[in-house]
Amino acid sequence: MPHFAAGVVRFQNEVFPKKKDLFEKLSHGQSPEALFITCSDSRIETAMITQTDPGELFICRNAGNIVPPHVTHTGGMTASIEFAVAALKVPHIVICGHTECGAMKGAMNPEGLDSLPHVKEWLSYSKAAVDVVKEIAPDASEDERMKMLLEQNVILQIQHLKTHPSVAARLAKGDLVIHGWVYDIKTGDVNAFDEDSARFVPVDKRYSDEIAKLVDSSECA
Ligand SMILES: [Zn+2]
Repeated sequence: MPHFAAGVVRFQNEVFPKKKDLFEKLSHGQSPEALFITCSDSRIETAMITQTDPGELFICRNAGNIVPPHVTHTGGMTASIEFAVAALKVPHIVICGHTECGAMKGAMNPEGLDSLPHVKEWLSYSKAAVDVVKEIAPDASEDERMKMLLEQNVILQIQHLKTHPSVAARLAKGDLVIHGWVYDIKTGDVNAFDEDSARFVPVDKRYSDEIAKLVDSSECA
């Protein structure tokens, strides 16, 4: 039996019974806190990184955590974003890139992708980020350029996200917050884009005000 199929049996026997009440509640509907857009890479485990339960994140994954800009023809990302934002009314959207991203390596070196025509075309949605990195850091090392590309790609996909009408409308209303993250597979670090400084900073610093409020409220309780 494959490892993942054996896992289902263990889930049913050992894990599900302990969370029976949660699954019963979830059978009546979902109200996720965030639309979480990240890469398909097998090394990213969203529930583990964010310590969330089923029902908390509405997840869209693809190679390179890409959000194509809005166009009139329908695509899987467009429909999922519209559903999460306009129907489920998620209050947050996270775009989460990651280190060692094969998609971003491909975007940086598209000439190596001739045998993967769909991958090559898909990664053209990251071309502006590649060009920004080439422009701002022409002499940087390969490693430095890759680190910058991971961040620039997240920033670019946030810009694309804002072209989706459902997202633009909610932003205008003021009840939707967009977050840009980069997750480090090797260290577990998560850096988040800070709009004030226009830099990626460690997640505990980026959300220090919110974390302080949580500590205050737990001390009052
Ligand atoms: Zn990736």
